[in-house]
Amino acid sequence: MVLYLGIDFGTSGARGVVIDDEARILSQMRHPWEMAIDADWVTCWEKALWRLLAAIPGELGRQIGAIAINGTSSTILLTDATGQPVDAPLLYNDARGSMVLKDLINIAPPNHTVLSATSSLAKLLWMQQLPSFSQARYLLHQADWLAFMLHGQLGISDYHNALKLGYDVEKLQYPQWLEKLQIPIQLPQVLAPGTPIGELRPEIASKFGLRRDCLVCAGTTDSIAAFLASGAKLPGEAVTSLGSTLVLKLLSRTRIEDARYGIYSHRLGDLWLTGGASNTGGAVLKNFFTDEELVSLSRNIDVSTPSELDYYPLLKEGDRFPINDPQLLPRLEPRPDNPGDFLHGLLESMARIETRGYELLQNLGADQLTRVYTAGGGAANSAWMGIRGRYLKVPVIASTNTEAAYGTALLAMREQLKFIHIQ
Ligand code: ADP
Repeated sequence: MVLYLGIDFGTSGARGVVIDDEARILSQMRHPWEMAIDADWVTCWEKALWRLLAAIPGELGRQIGAIAINGTSSTILLTDATGQPVDAPLLYNDARGSMVLKDLINIAPPNHTVLSATSSLAKLLWMQQLPSFSQARYLLHQADWLAFMLHGQLGISDYHNALKLGYDVEKLQYPQWLEKLQIPIQLPQVLAPGTPIGELRPEIASKFGLRRDCLVCAGTTDSIAAFLASGAKLPGEAVTSLGSTLVLKLLSRTRIEDARYGIYSHRLGDLWLTGGASNTGGAVLKNFFTDEELVSLSRNIDVSTPSELDYYPLLKEGDRFPINDPQLLPRLEPRPDNPGDFLHGLLESMARIETRGYELLQNLGADQLTRVYTAGGGAANSAWMGIRGRYLKVPVIASTNTEAAYGTALLAMREQLKFIHIQ
């Protein structure tokens, strides 16, 4: 039997999942970041990678036929010609790229996804003025560099990680406007996520008891990996993440971009993963209730009776999707005396915002919604699931799995995600 390993480098630590050829989980491992102990992020990542490989039970390791890795989106680093980092990486949320945005605005097309302080391209331009840049030969994303540690080939990425570098995922090439920047560095060759790149370096295979012919595949980003884990795979299927914020992702045959609402699309083979994010969500619930209160109060909500309360739950003013209004005020009045009624109103109002979000995506041309998988802290709330079903008018179900590492293992398997590998 051939097994598959997915590795997730997320915001809080690294995780690995080994699955069999029917996508069943056989083993999982974790390694939290230890930045208090490690000198720098690169050391931290490298240690985590080796710890995860060392934690795979021996009899499973010998059967792993393919490995894929996901990293956080727009976490990048520069390396020399041997793959050695020349400076500290810039993490996904590092906004120092804001200093070069004024230059980028004159070069990138209006409203392009690179026009953000945290985009990979803004970070790269900012890095250009560092003294270490003179030693740099390659720009790599976190997932690219970690995969390089396994297969030994430099300068390879995937079109999920490369989107915020400016790569044209429709034409599958770097656009001309990007060439105009004349960045004196090797931008990565971009492959479809999951494409086999090469076999494991022999020394890694023997050190960790892995197969010499085990393939290392092109990776993806953490949020796409979590989408892949959900089980959604057909046009019209969506995943709502009920975390601190409300994040919608809808699989569609049409690409949708609308910078006004922060809507953009990732390519998934011949399909598009469209989506947007609202500032409403669990962070507002957390402001009023403990997790225990959310569970106990939700139990008594009569899901079949709509709440009359019409809120727009926000912690501070402003939202972008599905309403683009930086001055939009939080609407949390009138507040009933009974906390259960208040929670009912909040959950119901968020369900309306979610529905409006999917309507917006469909109005802009996305496929008609057929099914909504659910991830994030709020996914455990069955009352909310019932309320959302009433508004969304399609089946609302929990995701098969919400772990990015699991989605990345599916990517390594390829068979399960044929829709990505069509071209
Ligand atoms: P993130 O990773 O975005 O910080 P999580 O996916 O971990 O968020 O989800 C945390 C959120 O889930 C919290 O804001 C919390 O209010 C919310 N949450 C936790 N339990 C429940 C529940 N039973 N019902 C609704 N929301 C919940």
